[in-house]
Formats: sequence, structure tokens, C-alpha cells
Amino acid sequence: MIEVLKTYNQLYMQNFSRGNMQEKEIFLLSNKNSNLILTAPHATRSFVNKKEKLSDLYTGALTQYIGEISNTSTIIRQKFTPHKALISDFISQNNLQDHYFLDIHGFKQNINCDICLGIGDFSPQNYPYLEKIIKIAEKYHLKTDVNNLYTGRFGLTGRLQKACHKPNIIQLELSRCLRDFDQNPDIVLNLTVPFLCEICKIYE
Ligand SMILES: [Zn+2]
Repeated sequence: MIEVLKTYNQLYMQNFSRGNMQEKEIFLLSNKNSNLILTAPHATRSFVNKKEKLSDLYTGALTQYIGEISNTSTIIRQKFTPHKALISDFISQNNLQDHYFLDIHGFKQNINCDICLGIGDFSPQNYPYLEKIIKIAEKYHLKTDVNNLYTGRFGLTGRLQKACHKPNIIQLELSRCLRDFDQNPDIVLNLTVPFLCEICKIYE
């Protein structure tokens, strides 16, 4: 399993984490016709606020892998572009906005939290799956935080909420420890992967 993740990771890490610049598409949709779509817009470097943003390490490989084993659709950034390319535009161009989304990211801060959940401007009780996600996290002894450090307001979550007026998307930020399968293969195998797969199941 770790070997598969490492192989996938090479796609996103090449060219100093700018991905495969020969790739035609910026975003790759792997469509499994699931209600839920996992997104990883920072799988490679991206262009944010007129400058280059580093990738959210391991999120591309993890999202690709979780999508495959749980049969969940994914949209993953394949390459850096030196101009703004929004995953929200890709979602509307492909008419996918009526799905549920989990927007997978990674945070670097050393905070007393494993997972930050951003739900933007809707209130927690409007989210059909938020409570379930928090319960699953508790089961795995993962500490969650909702809408504090990461609100999702300025990313895909906020943009989709504004466009669709529906609370169908949650930004899910993972700590470095939970993502880093080079340093912590056991944690990723026994915690992160089953945790994310269990979340995908509740959307079925
Ligand atoms: Zn990110």
C-alpha cells in the first residue's frame, strides 16, 4: 500500500512539486459516479494571490489512492500553471456542482489538532455529514477543530457555497503527521487511510 502511495506521489512531486508540465489538463477528474467527490487542488504547486504556492504535500497521492479503494470520484490538480486556475471553475464547467465535496488539504502549523474542518458560512447544523465526520474522528482519537484556523471561506468551499447556496462541501485539512507516509507509514496506513475511507462510506 505504501509503495502504491509512493509511486503516485512521484506524479505530484516531479519538477519541484509542479507536477507533469506536459500534462494537457490542469485538473484530472476520475469519475466513479459517487455522490461524493474528493478534491485535492493543492496536490501540486498552484498560483494563489498572484504568487506561487507550495503544494500540500502527499494530498494528491492520498486522494488518488482513497478514491480508488473506496470507489469515490476525485478531482486532483496535475500541474502548476503560472496563472490562476480554479478548481471551482472546473467543477462548474463539468456540471458537477450538485455533488457533495470533501476538499482535502494539509496544514503545517504546529497546533493541538489533527484535523481542521472548514465549513465556510453555513452553520454546523446545516451540514448533513459534519457530525458523522467528527464522530468518526473521535473513534480514531483524532482531534478536530471546526471553522477556526481554516474556515474554507476563501477556497473552494466558500466559492461553491456562493455559487450553489448549498452546504455540500467541507474543507478537510490534515496535519503533516497524518499525511507524511515517508516519515509515518504506520500512521497513514492504520489511521489516515481507514479514517478517510470510513468518511467516504457515509456519503454512499
Ligand atoms: Zn491547501
